Amino acid sequence: MASSAQSEPTFRESVDHMFNRAADRMELSPGLREKIRVCNSTYIVRFGVRLRGEMKTFVGYRSVHSEHMEPVKGGIRFDNSVSQDEVEALASLMTFKCALVEAPFGGSKGGLCVDPREYDEREMEMITRRFAYELIKRDLINPSQNVPAPDMGTSEREMAWIADQYARMATTDINARACVTGKPLNAGGIHGRVEATGRGVQYALREFFRHDEDKRRAGLEGDLDCKRIIVQGLGNVGYHAAKFLAQEDGARIVGIVERDGAIWNEKGIAVDHLRDHMNETGGVKDYPHATFVEKGEKVLEEECDILIPAALEGVINLDNVDRIKAKLIIEAANGPITSGADDKLRERGVVVIPDLYANAGGVTVSYFEWVKNLSHIRFGRMQRRLDERRHTLVVDELERLSSALGDTWSVSESFKDKYMHGATELELVLSGLDDTMREAYQSMRKPWIEREDVTDLRTAAYMVAIERVAGAYRAKGL
Ligand code: GLU
Repeated sequence: MASSAQSEPTFRESVDHMFNRAADRMELSPGLREKIRVCNSTYIVRFGVRLRGEMKTFVGYRSVHSEHMEPVKGGIRFDNSVSQDEVEALASLMTFKCALVEAPFGGSKGGLCVDPREYDEREMEMITRRFAYELIKRDLINPSQNVPAPDMGTSEREMAWIADQYARMATTDINARACVTGKPLNAGGIHGRVEATGRGVQYALREFFRHDEDKRRAGLEGDLDCKRIIVQGLGNVGYHAAKFLAQEDGARIVGIVERDGAIWNEKGIAVDHLRDHMNETGGVKDYPHATFVEKGEKVLEEECDILIPAALEGVINLDNVDRIKAKLIIEAANGPITSGADDKLRERGVVVIPDLYANAGGVTVSYFEWVKNLSHIRFGRMQRRLDERRHTLVVDELERLSSALGDTWSVSESFKDKYMHGATELELVLSGLDDTMREAYQSMRKPWIEREDVTDLRTAAYMVAIERVAGAYRAKGL
């Protein structure tokens, strides 16, 4: 949580506050309400790894917020600032996120106190495998009970180590690959998972911009073309969101805030080019095509249409909220706005697209990956053999018809390819993700538009999610 002179609740308390605001507007029995709110369990492990000639002790967590559906799902974070409070807050967000996008999982989250930049690859592998071993032993990594994924500080690489560690320990589990998602393609991953969260942010914004009333509430009009955007954090999520919005929707990324400062260019920043620069130099400083701002966090307060916080929690807090000028904030990170700041933004009428919806693209595609692993079927272009003859007939018929009509029209090769062979895995993933983001938006939007006592999308999103979790508990007779 970013430091604040005024008193701020912890991340966990912040999530509770948001939960309570929604629950106050619902009819839930006090017992069920409490059951849904609390975090069921948190496992804390301290383990030693021999590194550079000495034993180094690490502290790790895996928290399960709600098992109303199993497996429970949520990423594993590697960062020095990981704490029990943070992991529990993130686990509850996972419960509500999954419920909102109807991914059939309970919520969980893990974390390890480690700065991955301090260790080389071989050392990180030893640390990751040892942490995974501790979690696997307790069924806190298991295809049917608890399925982790990447989060801050982890990526495909760590997921491949975890999957391999599980396979070594559960040698007869035919579903071993489904023990974790976000794996590399050649280790049972799925196309589109790496960029899924950023893609989800893009689809969320596109859906928002399809609704005139919603744009009016934010004081915006038109489409995404030329909208001025500030992105905070150019990690996996921020990078992909910025790239797709700029390259495919014509949005202008005018500011980017990073660890070592921020950069600004009114004409727009080419994120791919900047990313190359960051890979070479380790930061945004000295990027030749933009102005460098040493006090990076000040750039969050600049005028823009859309602000995309895509890194840590608590970056918009009581200290800076009064100076935030964005009309629309979309939470690509988990918990970037503290509950105190959220109250103030709501009072001012700034529209916030909340994390549990905005960054749900990751877990949505994780769900596709998990299903793919469990089904043991290759995704995409599956109907080829079955339907080949029927498709050939249709394409032939189309061509015959057009020539009979004296048309010069003919069936294009790419159409033939699509029609004959079906959609690729990536096409299936993207259309599934788009559909999910559209539907979840509709369900979240409904209470926001229809109820006078619901004045923000976050409360609306929590209400939809809590109602679904409550429904699952009721169905079990609880
Ligand atoms: N870590 C991501 C999140 O916070 C993805 C979780 C998952 O795919 O299970 O949503």
